[in-house]
Amino acid sequence: MPTVNLKEVLNKAIKNDYAVGAFNVHNLEFVEGVMRAAEELSSPVIIGIATVSIDYAGLEPLAAVTKIYAEKSKVPTVIHLDHGDDIELVRRCIQLGFSSVMYDGSKYPIGENIKRTREIVKIAHDENISVEGEIGVVGGFEALDVGDVSNEQLQELYTQSEDARRFVAETGVDALAVAVGTVHGMPMQNAKIDFQRLKEINAAVDIPLVFHGCTGLRNEDYQKAMGLGVKKFNVGTRLMIEFKQALQKALESDEKSLFASLQEGTAVISAAVKDRIMVLKSADQA
Ligand SMILES: [Zn+2]
Repeated sequence: MPTVNLKEVLNKAIKNDYAVGAFNVHNLEFVEGVMRAAEELSSPVIIGIATVSIDYAGLEPLAAVTKIYAEKSKVPTVIHLDHGDDIELVRRCIQLGFSSVMYDGSKYPIGENIKRTREIVKIAHDENISVEGEIGVVGGFEALDVGDVSNEQLQELYTQSEDARRFVAETGVDALAVAVGTVHGMPMQNAKIDFQRLKEINAAVDIPLVFHGCTGLRNEDYQKAMGLGVKKFNVGTRLMIEFKQALQKALESDEKSLFASLQEGTAVISAAVKDRIMVLKSADQA
C-alpha cells in the first residue's frame, strides 16, 4: 500500500491504545527483516533512516529499497528520516518519497531550535509529510558524552515541560522526542527513566511523544511510558548488535554460504522486531 505519514499512524495508535516501533535500517537485509516482521504480525511500522545510514548506504539507494518494500507491503509503513540535521537533506528526503521527517535541532538554544524546526514544518506540511522535533538531550551521540557526567547533570539536560509546551505551540510539530533518561546506543535494558518528568511533559502538550534509544529501555518501562503519552519507540542498537552476532556466527561455520549467512542475519532482525511489536501491542493493528 502507499506509505502513510507519522501523524496518521500515531493517531490510530492513540485511539486504539498501542504504540508503534521505529526501526533503523541500513541496507537491504535490515529493510527485509523489519518488513517481514511487520507483515507477519500485521503491525504498522516506522522505518527509520538516520544520517549515519545515509552516509553508509547513500540516500537514493536506501530510500529506493525502502520504498519498494513499503509499497508492496500490506501494512501501513512510514518512511521516516531520523535525526535530520539540515534543511537540504529534508527536502531531498521529501522528494525521494519519505512520508515523515525528524528535524533534530536539540543542540541549539530553544529559540533557534524553534525557528529552524518551524521552517521544516512549513516545507513538510505543504506535502502532507509529518515532522518530529526534539528538545532536551538524549545522550549517546548528541551534543554530550554521557560517560563523563553524573546523573544529576544529565537530568539538567532532560526536556522541561514548559519548553515542550512552547516548542509544540510555536513549531506545529506532529510528534515530540523527549529526553527523560533513555540513551542512544545503550546495549543493556537498564535505562533509568524520570517518569515524573514524563508525566509533566505529557500534561503540557497534546501531541504524541517519542522515545529514542529504546534498546536500553526495560519492557515494563515501555508499558509505563505508553501510558504517559509515548507512542513511538525507536529501536536501532539491538538490531545492529544481533545482526552482527548472527552474521559472525554463520560466517565462522564453513558449511554456510554467504547468502545463507546473510539470511540468518535477516532472520534475527525479524525476530527482534517481532519481539518489540509484541511489547508495543501493535500486532493485528495494520
Ligand atoms: Zn535518536
